[in-house]
Amino acid sequence: MTIDYQSLAVEGVQGLMPYQPGKPIDELARELGLDPAGIVKLASNENPLGPSPKAMAAARQALDGLCRYPDGNGFNLKARLAQRLGVGPAQITLGNGSNDVLEIITRCFADHSTEVIYSQHAFAVYPIVARAIGARGVEVPARHWGHDLEAMADAVTERTRLIFVANPNNPTGTVHDADAIERFLARVPDRVLVVLDEAYCEYLEGEGFPDGVALLSRFANLIVTRTFSKAWGLAALRVGYSLSSPAIADILNRVRQPFNVDSVALAAATAVLDDEDYLQRSRAVNTEGLRQLEQGLEALGLAFIPSAGNFVAVDVGEEAGPVFQRLLAEGVIVRPVAGYGMPRHLRVSVGLAEENRRFLEALPRALQPKVDEALHG
Ligand code: PMP
Repeated sequence: MTIDYQSLAVEGVQGLMPYQPGKPIDELARELGLDPAGIVKLASNENPLGPSPKAMAAARQALDGLCRYPDGNGFNLKARLAQRLGVGPAQITLGNGSNDVLEIITRCFADHSTEVIYSQHAFAVYPIVARAIGARGVEVPARHWGHDLEAMADAVTERTRLIFVANPNNPTGTVHDADAIERFLARVPDRVLVVLDEAYCEYLEGEGFPDGVALLSRFANLIVTRTFSKAWGLAALRVGYSLSSPAIADILNRVRQPFNVDSVALAAATAVLDDEDYLQRSRAVNTEGLRQLEQGLEALGLAFIPSAGNFVAVDVGEEAGPVFQRLLAEGVIVRPVAGYGMPRHLRVSVGLAEENRRFLEALPRALQPKVDEALHG
């Protein structure tokens, strides 16, 4: 008898679609017989600068200890983060990327009898982790592509345990200011945990943006998550963390895999925190690149969502899937976001000036067939 293993999977998992990552350069090179060196990848909100030399030196040194288990408590990284952020080490929970922390939080606080709230067009991992453990995912319609925080607070019921807020959000790039986040937190009951996902916070410029860390002492139900994958340029090593009260961190640590961050990653992340110059360059390259992309898209007459992150979502004015495919054929990888309920948008990550230029030059050609059709029937 053949067994239908699909039907054996727990109910929440049966309905899940796997997370769609950006297409790797090598994969496209294999598929189209292209030279990987000529491919531009602007698909995963990665740091285009390459890794920090300080992080690389520390990672290399850590290779000497590969035969040993990592420090399961991440003592050095937590100490360095605590010092930088002005929190206690006991408030930090380390994760294999911040995705890991998002999953740990959900497993600790939600189950099949509870509800988890997130926004339409919000980061895809929230519904995945919520549904995987059987919780009811409550998607609140977005407002101007961003989170409708009022409506999200209104959506809280007796069953709500967790609310995810991405600030800035991926893939829309929308952001709420400090007042809006504080008003929201003030409305949410203490028994409901709020996860403020600040994966892109290092890119925020100017006054008025919330610093989740500063809010921790005022809102005991707040968990802030951050990552080394973006502005710190260590996406491959998978290091993220949450900041919370020590009591919440203690709960998270019960579920966390004991060695969820490896020793090379721990060493590199600790070292990169000393590379302030790298962070400043990351910011500068992003600010400039975002401006370049926005100006280029404006010149093409395409609408985009103003972004506070290291990416921008552009409305290509037609179904975006075929445009994505035609860009691939030119060796330019961006990200279709139809799975986020945005079938006409492509998300393009900010690259180096030359990479952004490649995208901006290829894009009108990728849109061209439609123009040709209109002209020539
Ligand atoms: N949150 C948001 C909003 C993101 O966009 C991402 C990365 N795409 C993450 C969390 C997770 O990143 P990582 O697991 O690399 O820390």
